[in-house]
Amino acid sequence: MQFHNIDIVMLDMDGTMLDKHFDDYFWEHLVPEKYAEKHSVTFSKAKEVLLSLYRAHEGTLNWTDIDFWSKELDLDIPALKEQIKHLIEVHPYVEDFLGLLKQHKKKVMLVTNAHFKVLDLKLKKTQIGQFFDRCITSFEIGHPKEDIAFWEKLYNIAPFDKDRVAFIDDTCEVLHTAKRYGIHNLILKRKASSKRADKPCPDFYTIEDFRELISLIRGD
Ligand SMILES: [Mg+2]
Repeated sequence: MQFHNIDIVMLDMDGTMLDKHFDDYFWEHLVPEKYAEKHSVTFSKAKEVLLSLYRAHEGTLNWTDIDFWSKELDLDIPALKEQIKHLIEVHPYVEDFLGLLKQHKKKVMLVTNAHFKVLDLKLKKTQIGQFFDRCITSFEIGHPKEDIAFWEKLYNIAPFDKDRVAFIDDTCEVLHTAKRYGIHNLILKRKASSKRADKPCPDFYTIEDFRELISLIRGD
């Protein structure tokens, strides 16, 4: 991929720019713990119930709708996220990469399935917000990035030349949808979580950290 042919760089947030450990810890540890307390069940029972609920809503807008989960689980999910916000971490070299994109006059967009309340919390906790020309959430669009309708609606509200866009995400399925829509410059960010191995996804150009893209831009 050659960055001099790219006008717009779209980046996912969780797992791509931010360490997914925060989200994994939140949903797989803190929420089961609070659910167990609230509903007087063991931690492992809570985990079992929750994992099957998560699976049922994965890839839908409910999945990242924290108001949905607050209601569904009878827990104050935004307050719980606030409690562990110290675990929100930016992946290495992300800010260097974003700064370089701005220096090269690229338009930089954050494109996330995250709920706007979570986006808000994460942009307050980190310094990455300053680099974005625009932040788009699936809630604004009405579909998650896994649906082709997300990309069609995104195009309607912020038109782009498919050949001059690069899109970076840590979720294989999302990249496949973007490919079906017609975006060719697709990059998979590996090591979404600093604490866990990735699921394999050999179909896309892959980076382990943003230094690889920094050298690509500098070599252009
Ligand atoms: Mg992600």
